[in-house]
Amino acid sequence: MYLHEFQAKGLLRNYGVPVPDGGVASTASDALRVAKELKGDAWVIKAQVHAGGRGKAGGVKVVKAVSEAYDEATQMLGMKIVTKQTGPEGKIVHRILIEKAMEIKQEIYLSFLIDRDSEQYMIIASAEGGVEIEEVAKNNPAAVIKAYVNPVIGMGHFLGRKIAKKIGLDSSLLNQFADVANKLYQCFVDHDAMMLEINPMVVSGEGEIICLDAKMTIDDNALFRHPKIEEMKDYGELEPQEVRASIFDLSYVSMDGNIGCMVNGAGLAMATMDIIKFNGGEPANFLDVGGGADVNKVREAFKIILTDPKVNVIFVNIFGGIVRCDLIAQGVLTAAEEVPSDKHIVVRLDGTNVKEGRKILHDGAAKSGLNIVTGDTMADAAEKAVKLASGDKVGKKKASVTAEQEGE
Ligand code: ADP
Ligand code: MG
Repeated sequence: MYLHEFQAKGLLRNYGVPVPDGGVASTASDALRVAKELKGDAWVIKAQVHAGGRGKAGGVKVVKAVSEAYDEATQMLGMKIVTKQTGPEGKIVHRILIEKAMEIKQEIYLSFLIDRDSEQYMIIASAEGGVEIEEVAKNNPAAVIKAYVNPVIGMGHFLGRKIAKKIGLDSSLLNQFADVANKLYQCFVDHDAMMLEINPMVVSGEGEIICLDAKMTIDDNALFRHPKIEEMKDYGELEPQEVRASIFDLSYVSMDGNIGCMVNGAGLAMATMDIIKFNGGEPANFLDVGGGADVNKVREAFKIILTDPKVNVIFVNIFGGIVRCDLIAQGVLTAAEEVPSDKHIVVRLDGTNVKEGRKILHDGAAKSGLNIVTGDTMADAAEKAVKLASGDKVGKKKASVTAEQEGE
């Protein structure tokens, strides 16, 4: 789960991490009130969207008068922001953060990640932080360093100092950097974060280290341990399909292609995306209905894919182990009745109750005229799904399911 900058900064503040004073607003008059309350003579207005690169895309603006704060807020609220991370469709700004503008002497990059290869936390740091960090990593990789933290031992002051020295910070900053880095580390670990990125962490005019930006993602699988964090979920940032998936507890990730996938088991779901790609197609999503899915869940899962405008072919790839094929077939038909659609449905069913499942689909398709195509094997079905998605016909096996096609 991705946190907004203002939410992440709220968590950081609780750990004593220095962040600028600020407040969030969803109307220009609210923004004016926040700017007035903050006092000072310069403010920064920051778009709160789930994407980095806002600075370069007009989503971070410095203003020098409260009236300007009001005007800038009016401009920014409702605008569409397009950055490398939002994709061409961009994101609409619903909220802004108003902060005191800081005087910046130096911009540092510092992030915490999980490194699955080494089974440790990884810290990435550079003394050349800021909006050009990607360029620094490309053109001067030596300026970006990595350090590892054994989760059992923890970070410690010494590692903070070591990193600061390695990136070449002024010796007067070593202890301060180590202190802030350790607080960040603790916040990262305590919240089961997958990533915490501070870019930039700045050295202010007074020589203070302050975190000006914070991007944080929390492991979805750990959210049950953090109910307060889960409440922060911004459904406005999710696609409608993702919102529905989270209501019905489905493991769903939206992607850019046009082949919607309904699969059981994360491994099979990955393999399904691979085989679609192998055949030259593009999956529209990852969707794992899970092992213990009931008809209701299958129906909702299928509806999520049916209502996705990107999707023109649906690939149902189910190996009935714990989940039964007849139940999947019922779910598919009920959903298709509720949301009539002329999208092609390519089905590969195997495993528990496969005969019953195929019969239900066969009868249902004949009655409702659904565009169901079956695949004898996963490879066959994937090939058909890709062909249909690219506008090709799949020949004689198109139309409804028949017992012969199913090899009965
Ligand atoms: P993004 O990473 O999405 O571009 P940032 O929060 O990093 O957004 O802001 C971009 C740049 O704007 C920063 O690198 C920094 O130079 C400047 N900036 C951000 N917040 C402040 C602030 N409170 N005071 C002064 N400058 C700021
Ligand atoms: Mg940034």
